[in-house]
Amino acid sequence: MRFGALEAGGTKMVCAIGNEKGEILEQQSFPTRTPEETIPELIEYFKDKDIAALGIGAFGPVDVVKESPTYGTILQTPKLAWRGFNIEKAFADALHLPIGMDTDVGGSCLGEVTYGAAKGLRNVLYLTVGTGVGAGIYCNGQMVHGMLHPEAGHILVGLRQDDPGASVCPSHARCLEGLASGPSIEKRWGKKAAQLADDNRVWELEASYLAEAIANFILILSPERIILGGGVMHQEQLFPLIRRDVLEFLNDYYDTPALHDLDSYIVPASLGGDQGIMGAVRLAELAYLAENR
Ligand code: ADP
Ligand code: ZN
Repeated sequence: MRFGALEAGGTKMVCAIGNEKGEILEQQSFPTRTPEETIPELIEYFKDKDIAALGIGAFGPVDVVKESPTYGTILQTPKLAWRGFNIEKAFADALHLPIGMDTDVGGSCLGEVTYGAAKGLRNVLYLTVGTGVGAGIYCNGQMVHGMLHPEAGHILVGLRQDDPGASVCPSHARCLEGLASGPSIEKRWGKKAAQLADDNRVWELEASYLAEAIANFILILSPERIILGGGVMHQEQLFPLIRRDVLEFLNDYYDTPALHDLDSYIVPASLGGDQGIMGAVRLAELAYLAENR
């Protein structure tokens, strides 16, 4: 069976056709312009592809709550042209197919859970550390949606005394995204994160913020595995530092077998950058299954 997948990002729209094994059969990107310009291009891409359903992982905030009257609508994004635009309805009206949707990071989480580093697990946290910080949370075998979707990238952390930087989050003086996203590293140290690879101070501080948040996520969600993706996590030296600091923050309070094997508990994303689009394939399959039971 063929499924359509859309990873709707702030700068580009990645469209793909995949199957139930998660294989990507073809893929094409379109720049994100206004909905009026971009949506018809995407509909054109999908319309003759013989797909059974479409899955969308969209930049947020976005209403992913199926029962909500505004389900499918992009909410308070700084990309003003997209604010209030119902992306789910646009494709449902044009393609007359089952549509599944989640946030972009929710899609990545589902991709890793279905095909990647968390295959077979029922409780998983996926954290992306890139231009922003975001989390997809899979709990008891389902993506967590509540009032909306989690915004766990904005969890508060304690500002480090030796941190010369200031938050890049317009809403919070000391949230994780404000203090640990790629732009925050660049603002604090005056260079792009990728150019700071050899500067230990950068990664010690970065790991400390990420580990504090991850320790809190462990205490709240008790996930079976934590997957870290996004551009900043290309700095592989972060992984051992994060694992060390997580143990220090937990301070022996929480004792499970998984926490004795942190190398397989806190792991990098495994799908080579395709976790988002593969997750969108799975969103499509789930939407198809829901309508064809
Ligand atoms: P986005 O979050 O926009 O989808 P990315 O996950 O690639 O995209 O994140 C982009 C951020 O990650 C930028 O702030 C960039 O500086 C940072 N980044 C990208 N590559 C690297 C790298 N190799 N090392 C450290 N930081 C990186
Ligand atoms: Zn914030």
